[in-house]
Amino acid sequence: MSDCPHCGWPDSRPVQDLSQHPTEEGVLSWTRCVCGSVQARLLTAGTVRIVARGQPAPTHTGDREPEAARDAARHPAG
Ligand SMILES: [Zn+2]
Repeated sequence: MSDCPHCGWPDSRPVQDLSQHPTEEGVLSWTRCVCGSVQARLLTAGTVRIVARGQPAPTHTGDREPEAARDAARHPAG
């Protein structure tokens, strides 16, 4: 299987199972990586396919919305 592109954690070892939903294609399983990135993986007969992946948690990357941008949104020019 692949690794998380954000932190390199093996996708075969999800840290947290969030929920599972049976679908026509198989079981859609939502998991969270060690870095906080949420993945949607499709479990079919004998195979696992990751169909979507979110961003890591902000606390992990240190990325934060700049305060200047927030102020600009709160007080639009004009
Ligand atoms: Zn990760």
